[in-house]
This record gives sequence, structure tokens and C-alpha cells, in this order.
Amino acid sequence: MGKRTAIVAGNWKMNGALGASRDLVVELAAGVGTGGGAEMLLCPPFVYLDAASRWLESTPIALGAQNLASEVDPGAYTGEVSGTMLRDVGCVYVVVGHSERRTLYGESDEQVVAKFRAAQTVGLVPILCVGETLAEREGGRTETVVSRQVNAVLETLGASVLAAAVVAYEPVWAIGTGRTATPDQAQEVHALIRALIAAQDATIAGGLRILYGGSVKAGNAEELFARDDIDGGLVGGASLDVSEFLTIFHAASGQEPAP
Ligand code: PEP
Repeated sequence: MGKRTAIVAGNWKMNGALGASRDLVVELAAGVGTGGGAEMLLCPPFVYLDAASRWLESTPIALGAQNLASEVDPGAYTGEVSGTMLRDVGCVYVVVGHSERRTLYGESDEQVVAKFRAAQTVGLVPILCVGETLAEREGGRTETVVSRQVNAVLETLGASVLAAAVVAYEPVWAIGTGRTATPDQAQEVHALIRALIAAQDATIAGGLRILYGGSVKAGNAEELFARDDIDGGLVGGASLDVSEFLTIFHAASGQEPAP
């Protein structure tokens, strides 16, 4: 089987301002070309999603959110944003279980599964983030931790839900640290994730996009994306720099950057 269509997703985190966000989107839209062999996805902060959706009209760039409420129905959930609201403003994807949410806001595997399910209930494509901390890697627990995080979804919802989802392997020690997993380290975990899912459903595992995240940059994207089980990237810091992000995108799409 040929490789799956790659996704290069920009996770802006809590960065940007209205004008700067618009400039970033406009410049990325000018440089993305026709997209080629990859999809570009932008995940701005909630408050810019509505405007970003309009800036992205007539471009091949997709819109996603960084988080969503685990509740589906409207109600008394102060400060939360539902999947339906995200659909309303043009989101197609939503990140769930980012390590910053797990670590800083205490999201458990159970909450991540609930968010995954809430996303799919309203037709959003969840991007399930998994990954081990430095202590877990150094303690030889990478496989155990990543398997536990993937199994939380597999055992609760079954493998079939992964037909309409994306997984991102993001070693916590590589996020925002400038320290990237080597292509061998990343490929090893991506293959493990795919095998875990293949044990339940080989077809779904074969079609699943598994992105790598953790200090992806213009200088390391190509060698990461060349590996068999790495289907693009979830990019934080470098997604805020037009030239870096376009170079990363074109490493996945196989197209030359627009002049
Ligand atoms: C991320 O936020 O998901 C991420 C991978 O960040 P960075 O690229 O900055 O390491």
C-alpha cells in the first residue's frame, strides 16, 4: 500500500493576536499552493476560529480547534466550548489529549476518551495525542504508557472509531524543548501504535494517519516524514513562522514552495 495522505497541522496554542493571526493565515494561504500530496490544518485559539474560517475560504487549508468540551448537549458548563459550536464556525478537526492538557489541566485518559467521543458525535475528526514523559522514556516505560493511552480509546470505543480519527505521537520531552525524537525513535513508536490497532483491525490501522509532534522544524521534517509510519506532523512553535511552516508542509506534500 502507498503511504497515506499526510497532514501537517499547526497548533498555535495560546499565541497570537487578531491582526497577526490574519497575516499568518493569509501568508500561509498564499504559500500553500494546491496542497499537493498533503493536507494543511491550522488550529488557532478558540476566539480566532470564526475569523480564521472566513480567512480560509477558497483555500485548501482546513481548520481545527485545540480542545473541546466532553459534554455534547448545551448546558451549564461555564467556560467550555462544545463540538457543535466548533462545527458551527467551520472546524473539521479537533485536538484531544494534548500533553499540555493532560499535564497542566489534569485531563485523564477517561476525559480524553469522552472528548474523543464528543468530537465524533458531532462529526469532528479527533486528533488523539499520546506520548511519554522523559522520566517514562528513561524508565523504559514508553511502550506501556503509549499503549495505555491508545488502549483507553480502543477498549472503550473499539477500533472502528479510528477510521474517522487521527493519532499524534508527541513525546512530552520533545514538545517545545527543541529536542526532537530521532526518526528511528519516532518510527518505532508509530509502528507500535499501528500494530496495536492492527491487532484489532488491520484495515483501519493501515489507513490511519499517525502524525509526529515534538520540535518539528524545517530542518528535520523531511527525514521524519520519510519514515514508513509517520504521516505528517503536529507542529507547535514552528507553525507560527510562515517560512518554517511552509517548508515543513512542502516536506510532506512533495511540492516545491510557491515562489
Ligand atoms: C505541539 O504543541 O503539539 C508541539 C509539538 O509543539 P512544538 O512543535 O513546539 O514542540
